[in-house]
Amino acid sequence: MVLQFLEIMFLADVVQYWVHRLFHQIPWLCKFHAVHHSAEVMDWMAGNRLHLVDLALTRRLIYIPSFVLGFDEFPMHAYIVFVSLHSVFIHANLGFHLGWWRHVFATPQFHHWHHGEEAVAIDKNFAVHFPFLDMIFGTFFMPGQRWPASYGVHNEAVPHSFLKQFVYPFVKTNRNDD
Ligand SMILES: [Zn+2]
Ligand SMILES: [Zn+2]
Repeated sequence: MVLQFLEIMFLADVVQYWVHRLFHQIPWLCKFHAVHHSAEVMDWMAGNRLHLVDLALTRRLIYIPSFVLGFDEFPMHAYIVFVSLHSVFIHANLGFHLGWWRHVFATPQFHHWHHGEEAVAIDKNFAVHFPFLDMIFGTFFMPGQRWPASYGVHNEAVPHSFLKQFVYPFVKTNRNDD
């Protein structure tokens, strides 16, 4: 069960890494993911700010292959609980460090840099659980003990209300950097 859980976690993060990267690189997908990045203050709730399309597409691309590969129900359910709690953890405003383990297991500092507004932090740290995936694919960024000075989207004007955020990806808007 433990081995299956770790296998699901690894498979999920490889899928998550690439789906997340596409959400940053394909313009029409960017608008869905911009809702998640519109949080200007990072705290434990920030992980729940997700457009339904972003959430549904990413989760389906993880769960369907896991189901088809024949993993047991218990580790699958355990992973669903784990990923929800881990999302709270990596968005939380918790300033601690795990030594060299922070290269193995995602911490708040690792994911906060994914949300950082500084140019050096753009399109970095796509993995959700395993930072070494970003090291392998050349997108790792975690400068010592430093944390981002500010958070948010740098090229999208995402509205504030829930309904407007839901509609936002479906309407044509002018990008600030065009
Ligand atoms: Zn992102
Ligand atoms: Zn996030």
